[in-house]
Amino acid sequence: MTLTKQQREALRLKYSGRCAYCGCELGQRWAADHILPVVRDWVNGGCQYPERDTFENLTPACLSCNTIKGSLSLESFRKVIGGFIRSLNRDSTQYKFAKRYGLIEEIERPVKFYFELCQNTTNTKTTSISS
Ligand SMILES: [Zn+2]
Repeated sequence: MTLTKQQREALRLKYSGRCAYCGCELGQRWAADHILPVVRDWVNGGCQYPERDTFENLTPACLSCNTIKGSLSLESFRKVIGGFIRSLNRDSTQYKFAKRYGLIEEIERPVKFYFELCQNTTNTKTTSISS
């Protein structure tokens, strides 16, 4: 869908000008990402799930997150990110070397998206207000 300037600005401010996934500050260039992917057909045009092309299904994303997420679901995107440490240990000599010299400390924890952390903060506030 094509966003109006007002819709695009509202979307940019959805997480206070931050990427919904990694939480970095959005620069001048950012993407309106489909949370549930529409799965574009870049060869023939169109997409697999046109019904998902709604404003409610859009979220602000930095270009890095938007590129890596691509047509992945949120859980597949989470798995891809979670696998980065494994692939760095397997494929990157620089990473392994930096780790050997104690410059990198790996932390085992589930991948949390910024929007999930924002929801947890909101839930906590709601709980403390109501109790
Ligand atoms: Zn991001």
